[in-house]
Amino acid sequence: MDRKPNTLTRRQLLKATGLVAAGAGLAGLARPAEATSPAPSPNRRRVLRIGHLTDMHIRPTGRGPAGLVACLEHVQSLAEPPDVLFNGGDAIMSALGADKDSTRAQWETWHKIMNENLELPMIHCIGNHDVWGWQRSRAGTTGDEPLYGKVWVKQELELESGYYSFDRAGWHFTVLDSVRERGGGAYQPLLEDDQIEWLKADLDSVPAETPILILSHVPVISVTPYFFYDNIVENYQFRVAGALMHQDVHRLRDLFANYPNIKVCLSGHVHLVDRVDYNGITYLCNGAVSGSWWHGRHKDCEPGYAIVDLYDDGSFEREYIEYEWDVGK
Ligand SMILES: [Zn+2]
Repeated sequence: MDRKPNTLTRRQLLKATGLVAAGAGLAGLARPAEATSPAPSPNRRRVLRIGHLTDMHIRPTGRGPAGLVACLEHVQSLAEPPDVLFNGGDAIMSALGADKDSTRAQWETWHKIMNENLELPMIHCIGNHDVWGWQRSRAGTTGDEPLYGKVWVKQELELESGYYSFDRAGWHFTVLDSVRERGGGAYQPLLEDDQIEWLKADLDSVPAETPILILSHVPVISVTPYFFYDNIVENYQFRVAGALMHQDVHRLRDLFANYPNIKVCLSGHVHLVDRVDYNGITYLCNGAVSGSWWHGRHKDCEPGYAIVDLYDDGSFEREYIEYEWDVGK
């Protein structure tokens, strides 16, 4: 304990001035250690239904195209279909180490499927495999190409920026751009300083009573990295791949702690499903439409998508739906 004895924390100060109960929506107020939101109001009203489809990994060949068509038909034919679909990233199989022709063919297949089957509006989030050419020797890129990196995917998905936000149905939605180039053909799940500054300003702009949903490709917090690989213990240490979760997790945890109206964070990337309640926020990793990259089940996760219902009291529900299509083994 290194806190100076005479320095009141913000929480102590608020408590002393009777503001804790009244100021539950104040930014900067310490979050309850225990998740999550208060019990949902019995009179709550559903204001938005989201279909979160992540890790579709489409390329011209294989089972992906038929599988994605089946998935879109499934989600759009639900008795109560979503109002909007979220593409959680990794729309295409991979452009990271693909040459120009292959990358172009992957995007053409994506657009063909969407043009012929998509009936709902779709919000896009960039995944690591959507980025072109960071694996330079495999892709044959130098880094000087006009479409290098995220330029190409932003063009295909008509995004001005990989990170952006919008308001709908009484909620605020913040979309993050999870990965940066690390060199040597690798990527790193980490927000650069400019995105962090933007994120702070974005969160500051949201009224305290407006609930916030954050969408990222890579999970900010997740237990799934412990189950992605089979052998994770070495010399009494857990060895968890650094690419599977945001490496700036402590920085994001500290930032998010200032905003009690952040309710839920959605992600994909690991092709597994979990729910983590941490420091007052629920983190949902929502599997993969492609399961094991179109080879069936990935570990404990069948190919599927999530339905996320948002309510007017800031509460939410998530259901992971296996869309019952034989993607093969
Ligand atoms: Zn993926």
